[in-house]
Amino acid sequence: MPTYTAPTKDMQFVLHDVLNIAGSDIPGYADLEPDFTSAILEEAGKISAEVLQPLNAVGDAEGCALENGVVRTPQGFKEAFEQVKAGGWPGLDMPEEFGGQNMPYVLNTAVGEMFSAANQAFTMYQGLTHGAASAILAHGSDEQKHTYLPKMVSCDWTGTMNLTEPHCGTDLGLMRTKAEPQDDGSYKLTGQKIFISSGEHDMAENIIHLVLAKIPGGPEGIKGVSLFIVPKFLVKEDGSLGARNGVSCGKIEEKIGIHGNSTCVMNYDGATGYLLGQQHKGMRAMFTMMNEARLAVGMQGLAQAEVAFQNALDYAKDRLQGRDVTGVKNPDGPADPLIVHPDVRRNLMDQKSFTEGARAFTLWGAMLIDQAHRAGDKDADGLISLLTPVIKGFLTDQGYDMTVQAQQVYGGHGYIEEWGMSQFTRDARIAMIYEGANGVQALDLVGRKLAQDGGKHVMAFFDLVKSYIAETKGQDADFDRDFLDPLKAASKDLQAAGMYFMAEGMKNPNNALAGSYDFMHMFGHVCLGYMWARMGKAAREALDGGTGDPEFYATKLATGRYYMARQLPATALHLARIQSGAEPVMALEAANF
Ligand SMILES: Cc1cc2nc3c(=O)[nH]c(=O)nc-3n(C[C@H](O)[C@H](O)[C@H](O)COP(=O)(O)OP(=O)(O)OC[C@H]3O[C@@H](n4cnc5c(N)ncnc54)[C@H](O)[C@@H]3O)c2cc1C
Repeated sequence: MPTYTAPTKDMQFVLHDVLNIAGSDIPGYADLEPDFTSAILEEAGKISAEVLQPLNAVGDAEGCALENGVVRTPQGFKEAFEQVKAGGWPGLDMPEEFGGQNMPYVLNTAVGEMFSAANQAFTMYQGLTHGAASAILAHGSDEQKHTYLPKMVSCDWTGTMNLTEPHCGTDLGLMRTKAEPQDDGSYKLTGQKIFISSGEHDMAENIIHLVLAKIPGGPEGIKGVSLFIVPKFLVKEDGSLGARNGVSCGKIEEKIGIHGNSTCVMNYDGATGYLLGQQHKGMRAMFTMMNEARLAVGMQGLAQAEVAFQNALDYAKDRLQGRDVTGVKNPDGPADPLIVHPDVRRNLMDQKSFTEGARAFTLWGAMLIDQAHRAGDKDADGLISLLTPVIKGFLTDQGYDMTVQAQQVYGGHGYIEEWGMSQFTRDARIAMIYEGANGVQALDLVGRKLAQDGGKHVMAFFDLVKSYIAETKGQDADFDRDFLDPLKAASKDLQAAGMYFMAEGMKNPNNALAGSYDFMHMFGHVCLGYMWARMGKAAREALDGGTGDPEFYATKLATGRYYMARQLPATALHLARIQSGAEPVMALEAANF
């Protein structure tokens, strides 16, 4: 069965050699010295490998079951959840006031990657709670914060996010769930939500549902949506649990993957709810945590790619098939290992160069979130808003592709369940859909984020890449040729696509929208190219300075060169597609498909 080893050395490299977190002036970062982060990452890696990963296949095989209105999670989940809680992991980046440890989000992101790689379905119970708690933290009254947060930060109570209804997922303006005001200031919620992750289960004393609903008489469409706190058990004034609320799980969905996470139909039958934030501003409240939530989903793509890659690599070294055409490598055996074959190498290098680049990208994104929240930096906030759909869409698409490639290394053994590789593809698939389907991420990027604040943030991104190239160029001709020149070319392609949208999108918006998916991928490649240039530079400096492990840094440079040579040129294809405009995409009438 698959195994998982947390990539702590690689994370330390990104955090310290590349991002230099301990040298940053973001509040809370000065404490993040290498020894300190190493201790936390090692501990998180241990629980991931020893507690969460062994339950991954159990969760997949057993799934969740609805019995008398209660969802039973797979065997061992409850005990593991207690261990995660006892370690204080759910509150790592939450305020101390509510029982958290107030660590920066960047550290939480590194730990989150490990937990997700080890067991995505399990980690979602905690992840959804984090999202719901962040919403209460940002928009709740003092009373709401003190009532719910201490229990949610510890994960004694878990949380959910209820947006989707049977007839509306992307277009939430069509929502029908109603919230009727009551004399005591509360609301009665009636309606049905579907696909609610962690909606009902047996691992927590209480479940705090955050529910979007419409107050009758409010504005039409999306402008009339408000956000409510709806506890499974009402909470008494002294904080103890009271009566069962009118919310129940009607069904759990059978699905492709993440079987260990309960995906529930939730019925609200006059359930008592409390307004969170302002009336009719529910979407705004949701959007304040969107960057974090979407980054966390992008990270799931990376996490599944990483664990799948680790196992494919072991298999490629172990499985004997065929001979190396340039000379036998395993003369004592009947054949050479798969890893000698160039096409298997290509496959493994795709995976390795993606996961390491994606890790740097998510950790940089998390650092921007810290800079925005902890240092109140508006430019960082603008930049991460721009990059969020790229992180979510590109990393989950590519992450899924990498799990398929990892499966391919196993040949037929990847297709059967015995080796456990199919779970990675099945689990990775959902991240392309939830938290806004990837087509909608592309729409958000091109339709909203590019033009936000007069295009200031996309210009800032281009400036960042340009100044990085200018500052770094001229020190090492090989590095310039292998890293900086390809980055410059890719960045130019991205700018050309932006210019095309500006010119042609004005004439017909479909010229921009038909190219939006390509643009999201192109942007993702440029971001990973930028990350690889930064990682390559850090590795080269370490090699030149004679510090650390030379093999590690030389490997980093070779992996970066691969990405620059073999992946980054994809931007030219994306640009050609974009510049063909809407015509080839929209040529057929719906009836002629
Ligand atoms: C396992 C699982 C867990 C989930 N967990 C949760 C949860 O915890 N809470 C919650 O509220 N929801 C949850 N969801 C729901 C999920 O977020 C939605 O399924 C998703 O947002 C898409 O909505 P939809 O399924 O209605 O698809 P639709 O909105 O019908 O979209 C269908 C397709 O059309 C595309 N599309 C739609 N509109 C446009 C447009 N304007 N332009 C271009 N393309 C468009 C989309 O990209 C998509 O590919 C979950 C779903 C699943 C399967």
